Amino acid sequence: MYPRGPNTNNNDKQGGYHIGDVVDRRLRVVGVNRLRGADAGVMPDVTSGNANAPTIMTGEEAAEMIAAENGMKLATLVDEGR
Ligand SMILES: Cc1cc2nc3c(=O)[nH]c(=O)nc-3n(C[C@H](O)[C@H](O)[C@H](O)COP(=O)(O)OP(=O)(O)OC[C@H]3O[C@@H](n4cnc5c(N)ncnc54)[C@H](O)[C@@H]3O)c2cc1C
Repeated sequence: MYPRGPNTNNNDKQGGYHIGDVVDRRLRVVGVNRLRGADAGVMPDVTSGNANAPTIMTGEEAAEMIAAENGMKLATLVDEGR
């Protein structure tokens, strides 16, 4: 898959398959089973500041969503040292 989009600048390739058009609010790629997007490509707009921190947050949110859908809470696993 090669997502393409107009919302990019020189350093931050953001919004290539942003939430709403290509992925839903739970980051699932519309029309494709068992595939999510969890990087700067899902951002609906180019951020005014640097993109690295929100990209990491997006990945962490995706991990929590997937864990929750499988009856787990990642923070609990971390607390238990697993
Ligand atoms: C020169 C430069 C400087 C920057 N400086 C800053 C900064 O100071 N602070 C800041 O907050 N942000 C900075 N950014 C922005 C930040 O790095 C990016 O916005 C962020 O890393 C985007 O994360 P991403 O996961 O979407 O993409 P990437 O970090 O590009 O990750 C994509 C990953 O997918 C892998 N990949 C690609 N194709 C495939 C494939 N077919 N199969 C498997 N893997 C694949 C790549 O190897 C890569 O590891 C900078 C960016 C650049 C280019």
